[in-house]
Amino acid sequence: MDGKNKKAIIIGCGIAGPSLAIMLKRIGIDSEIYESEKNTSDFGILSFTPNAVRSVKTLGIHGMLQADPSPNVYFYKHNGKRIKMPDMITELKKAKVDHGMMLRRSQVIQTLSKKAIQDGIPIHFEKKLVEILEENNHVVASFSDGTQTKGDFLIGCDGPFSKTRKITMPEASAPTYSGRIWIGLDADNLVQHNLIPNAFHMTFGKKVYSGTIVFSDKKTVWWTNVHCSKDKLQEFKSLSPENLTQKLLELHKDDHELILEFIKSTKNRHVIIPLYVIPHLDTWNKGRVCLIGDAAHATSPFIG
Ligand SMILES: Cc1cc2nc3c(=O)[nH]c(=O)nc-3n(C[C@H](O)[C@H](O)[C@H](O)COP(=O)(O)OP(=O)(O)OC[C@H]3O[C@@H](n4cnc5c(N)ncnc54)[C@H](O)[C@@H]3O)c2cc1C
Repeated sequence: MDGKNKKAIIIGCGIAGPSLAIMLKRIGIDSEIYESEKNTSDFGILSFTPNAVRSVKTLGIHGMLQADPSPNVYFYKHNGKRIKMPDMITELKKAKVDHGMMLRRSQVIQTLSKKAIQDGIPIHFEKKLVEILEENNHVVASFSDGTQTKGDFLIGCDGPFSKTRKITMPEASAPTYSGRIWIGLDADNLVQHNLIPNAFHMTFGKKVYSGTIVFSDKKTVWWTNVHCSKDKLQEFKSLSPENLTQKLLELHKDDHELILEFIKSTKNRHVIIPLYVIPHLDTWNKGRVCLIGDAAHATSPFIG
């Protein structure tokens, strides 16, 4: 495509939005990013596999990310006993596979946004897409604050509940609830522990599976995946922080003490994410509008 004098409207400043903007710029296409929230997202962790690390290098942000390389993975039984397995890092080296990276999601999004701004790409916050109209040779996006913008094409990078998808492909299947909720806790400096830093620590609990990541600066995130039927989802989401803590303690009551310590010490600071997948879409583009990222193909994090 000849991108000269073309302008792309990018909806969403998560992972896909600024990544796309940086790459479009490289082939001479200008873009502007429109994000519904006040700021970029500040929750979660991202484990990057070697192919994702290669993408980060291509985007030119590898040096800007202060990442912990090669996260090792340790598995434990419910009682805290480590399950013997080969050392991942040694095995990767032997297989001559690039190392992975472990990052905070916020850090990745902020770095991508910073790079986009450095490259001269404007990012507009508090711009919630509500309508898309195609007219003659352009596309017009309207936002909830009454403003509009015009471009040659529009790319929806607006995540699993994509408004772009709803408007452009109203016949496409809605996201499907996976039956599981991800619950994360920021356990920074709250628990004294001796877990090996720069590693994933995964526990096969008696009832539920849980994981901890200890970054090399000792910042720690703990998470668990809880089964919850669709009809109980609303009830679960509206649990008070105290009741959620109780629920987590109950689910993990037969697991090792450290897990209970994480849960007790971080009450009131949970992030709850019901996990959805996007069923197969017949097409990711229509006219001047296209979908990428989770808007087009959100998968459950368990798929890997
Ligand atoms: C619990 C969990 C764990 C995960 N772990 C990993 C992992 O370890 N490694 C990995 O690679 N991936 C992981 N993923 C997946 C990864 O987070 C997603 O694939 C990735 O965030 C998708 O990026 P995206 O830009 O498409 O969407 P998002 O990152 O969701 O960004 C979408 C953006 O669009 C904005 N938006 C939404 N609606 C509108 C609107 N109407 N107007 C304007 N803006 C809008 C949102 O505010 C958001 O900023 C995980 C996902 C989950 C849920």
